[in-house]
Amino acid sequence: MTPPFLPFAQPEIGEEEIAEVVDTLRSGWVTTGPKVRRFEQDFAAFLGDPGLHCVAVNSATAGLHLALEALGVGPGDEVITTTHTFTATAEVVRYLGADVKLVDIAPATLNIDPAAVAAAITPRTKAIMPVHYAGLAADMPALLDIARRHGLKVVEDAAHALPTTCGGALVGTLGSDATVFSFYANKTITTGEGGMLVTRDAALAQRARTMRLHGMNRDAFDRFTAKVPSWYYEVVAPGFKYNLTDIAAALGIHQLKKAQAFQQRRAAIAAQYDAALAGLPLILPPRPALGDQHAWHLYVLRLADDAGVARDHFIERLFDAGIGCSVHYIPLHLHPYWRDRYALQPAMFPHSQHAYERMLSLPIYTRMSDADVQRVAAAVRTALP
Ligand SMILES: *Cc1c(COP(=O)(O)O)cnc(C)c1O
Repeated sequence: MTPPFLPFAQPEIGEEEIAEVVDTLRSGWVTTGPKVRRFEQDFAAFLGDPGLHCVAVNSATAGLHLALEALGVGPGDEVITTTHTFTATAEVVRYLGADVKLVDIAPATLNIDPAAVAAAITPRTKAIMPVHYAGLAADMPALLDIARRHGLKVVEDAAHALPTTCGGALVGTLGSDATVFSFYANKTITTGEGGMLVTRDAALAQRARTMRLHGMNRDAFDRFTAKVPSWYYEVVAPGFKYNLTDIAAALGIHQLKKAQAFQQRRAAIAAQYDAALAGLPLILPPRPALGDQHAWHLYVLRLADDAGVARDHFIERLFDAGIGCSVHYIPLHLHPYWRDRYALQPAMFPHSQHAYERMLSLPIYTRMSDADVQRVAAAVRTALP
């Protein structure tokens, strides 16, 4: 008898989330309102830094777009990011008419290589967008130092990085211009769809709040009178429709309370994989620096050069054994849009390309049992020649 298919990812939604959503539905207020405000306040408290502003949005993509827009990124500018990411990181740069400068990763961490960033800077460079790939912090001290020396903005794509620490401090508090988290269905906490823009910059937060809802602003009125009529607003820019709903925030409020417990379960699964897969012709995922926390959004294995099986065939064997797995990501330089627009070739990104050809992501999520983890590890062993 074959055991049931083990999906690659599944959210963990508890009765608390369900009750909060029902409460929202019964309240008569379903779009942006009191629950979004509470989720933003809870998120700031979670990060534990009173200087932070949290702006809830309906996706991380929206948050990244708003952050770059507020920083004034536009035509003629270049933004440097990693090729080893999801297209959302880079596409928002193109929304604004700026250009993307893709760079390679450091092979040891699979994170953006600060030396490659430094080498890619031109007079047009406006910002750097690091991605905390798989939930492991990018080398933020080096990247922030490069940004400081060249007068560049830094927007962190933290879609994988809740909760991740870097030098003992949570991602979101590291001193970049903005950090954006994702609450997509397969991320470490979920609101179905959703995201959070976090910044220390009050003006950036204010611009993002205005632009997430059609460029509507009520503050302009406040300057002239203490009392703004409830119907009054001014449109100050052609904004977007990026607001989070209270229904989604209802999920987020309770998911956030579980974020540390979820991380501990994911870290325990990663440790079980590490132990069960040691000594095989595999490169196990990079570990965080001593004392730092990895969010373990992804568990990315690489087949060693002497593994004796091609990655695509290896994944087929795992699927045949009833194990869902995936590849994160097909590097941007291989996608037709990015490849053709910037005349990119694999040889320009040797480390990302090398990793891509050998890597796969194993299931790692809180609803997996220890038996599920051992089943995956056994299937990996069996799939090796
Ligand atoms: C998921 C993801 C995003 C986009 O998040 P959404 O909330 O779906 O918009 C951006 N960057 C990376 C690296 C991601 O994994």
